[in-house]
Amino acid sequence: MSIAENIAKIRENMAAAAREAGRDPGEILLVGASKMNDADACRQAVAAGIDALGENRVQEMVQKLEQHAYDGAPLHFIGHLQRNKVKQVVGHVALIQSVGSLELLQAIEKAAADRDLVQDILLEVNIGREAAKSGFAPEDLFAGAEAALARPHVRVRGVMTIPPADADGDTNFRYFQEVRALYVDMNQKLFHNELEYLSMGMSGDYQDAIRAGATMVRVGSAIFGARHYT
Ligand SMILES: *Cc1c(COP(=O)(O)O)cnc(C)c1O
Repeated sequence: MSIAENIAKIRENMAAAAREAGRDPGEILLVGASKMNDADACRQAVAAGIDALGENRVQEMVQKLEQHAYDGAPLHFIGHLQRNKVKQVVGHVALIQSVGSLELLQAIEKAAADRDLVQDILLEVNIGREAAKSGFAPEDLFAGAEAALARPHVRVRGVMTIPPADADGDTNFRYFQEVRALYVDMNQKLFHNELEYLSMGMSGDYQDAIRAGATMVRVGSAIFGARHYT
């Protein structure tokens, strides 16, 4: 199956899940998680109409930007972002999805202020409270949002999450529902319901995420094939 065929199939599955949930399929964006795939694969996804591409590693992203891998689609940063690499990302991507600490938020504010721009971000929630994972604990999300609202060079567009990898299907679905509830509550109380992006769901669970309310799914291997780690 080609990248274009995979994307078409995923769009069908997304639409089916949306309809099951009584939702409009048109309101859900497909982000291609293109880590470890080359510029040509990215271009194929763009040609097939992917809504955005998401990268995890700064160095890989910078290289692929130079190769014009993403021309024609918005670029998102979706991986763990170290503060010393913030400058290479701010202003170069349409959305940083993985803002999970006050320190990172402040570093993005400073880099965006230096460049005189406003950086769109999502706040990442560590819904499984995993020690090894970044993201705000659920009870700290509102404080993160308030800190972002007080900084003029960042603009919160929504929430992102990655549930624990070892959760069974039911538990995983409950995590999605919990994040949805947090998102809806925060949107109402702090953002006048102007947030649009609830980013959750990957190759194995994007349909469940859509049933639980995701407006953005991040799909890698189901589009590009299995990644080969060396
Ligand atoms: C790699 C990655 C994905 C996609 O994972 P797949 O299981 O390959 O679909 C989604 N989100 C993030 C943050 C990722 O790093």
